[in-house]
Amino acid sequence: MANVAFIGLGNMGGPMAANLVKAGHSVTVFDLVEAAMDAVVAQGAKKSSSALEALASADTVITMLPAGKHVAGLYLGDEGLIAKANPGTVFLDCSTIDADTARKVGAAAAERGLEMLDSPVSGGVKAAQAGTLAFMCGGTAAGFEKGKLVLEGMGKNIFHAGDHGAGQIAKICNNMLLAIHMVGTAEALQLGANNGLDPKVLSEIMLKSSGRNWSLEVYNPYPGVMETAPASNDYKPGFMVQLMLKDLGLAMENSLSTQSSVPMGALARSLYASFSAKGNATRDFSAILEMFQGE
Ligand code: NAD
Repeated sequence: MANVAFIGLGNMGGPMAANLVKAGHSVTVFDLVEAAMDAVVAQGAKKSSSALEALASADTVITMLPAGKHVAGLYLGDEGLIAKANPGTVFLDCSTIDADTARKVGAAAAERGLEMLDSPVSGGVKAAQAGTLAFMCGGTAAGFEKGKLVLEGMGKNIFHAGDHGAGQIAKICNNMLLAIHMVGTAEALQLGANNGLDPKVLSEIMLKSSGRNWSLEVYNPYPGVMETAPASNDYKPGFMVQLMLKDLGLAMENSLSTQSSVPMGALARSLYASFSAKGNATRDFSAILEMFQGE
C-alpha cells in the first residue's frame, strides 16, 4: 500500500481521495479550501497544512487541479513539489491541462530522476465517486507500472498512451470527438423530430444502424428517451458545458501549435461557446440539443 499525498480535493479530487482511503492506502490531503479537506478527513484521510507538508511523508503524489497554471505553480521552481520530493517519489497529475505544461513538468521530474505521469481522467463526478474512472497516462513504462498500482484504487481502465503529455493529448482527442458526436446526435434527433418521428423510435433505429455512437447509446440528448440521461433530468450535470468548452479550448490550442486541421472540432467549440454564453455554462453538455430547437 502507498503513502499518498492528494492535493486538490474539489468535485473530482474529493471522491477520488476517499476511494484511495477505502482501497487501503494511507492518504494525506491538502486543498486551499479547508472544508474540502474536512470532507475527506471525515472518511479517514489525514489533513496537512500545506502541499509540502503532505509531500514530506509521501511516496506517491496525486494532484487534481483546475488548469495548467495551477499545476506548473505547484510542481515547478525551487519551492515546488519536484524540487522538494524524496527520491523515488511518483507523481500522478490527474488534472486536465495543456500537453505543453504536462511535458514541461514531466521533464523537470525526469531531470531529478523522478517518475511523473500526466494521468487525466475520463468520466465525471459519478465515476469519481464510484471508482470507475478511466485514466490515460503519459510517461515512462516504468513510471506507468508504478503509478497504475495506485490509480487502480480510483478507476477501471488505465491506459499508457505514450511519453509525457500523451495522456493529455489522448484526453483532448477523446473529448473533441465526444463534442462532435454529441452535436451530431442532437442535430439528427431534432431533424427526425421536426419531421414527426418519435425520437425514441429514431434512436432505436440509429442504434441498430451505422449512426450508432456513445451519445446515442448511453447519453441520449433528447428528453424522455433515456430515463438515466441528464436530458431526462432537466439537463442537470453530468458534464457541464463549461468543462466541455475548456477541453475543446485545449484541443484548439494544440491544433494551432501542431498545425492540425480540426474543422469539426472548431465548429463544435464555436457552437458550445455560443450556447454557453446564453446562460448554459453550468448545464449538462447534452443540452446543446436546444440549439437545434430554435428559440
Ligand atoms: P474543482 O474546481 O471542483 O476542484 C479543484 C480543487 O483544486 C479546488 O478544491 C481548489 O481549491 C483546489 N486547488 C486549486 N489550486 C490549488 C493549490 N495550489 N493547492 C491546493 N489545492 C488547490 O475542479 P474539478 O471539477 O474537481 O476538476 C479538477 C480537474 O479535473 C480539472 O482539470 C477538470 O478539467 C478535470 N475533470 C473534471 C471533470 C468533472 O466532471 N468535474 C471530469 C473530468 C476531468
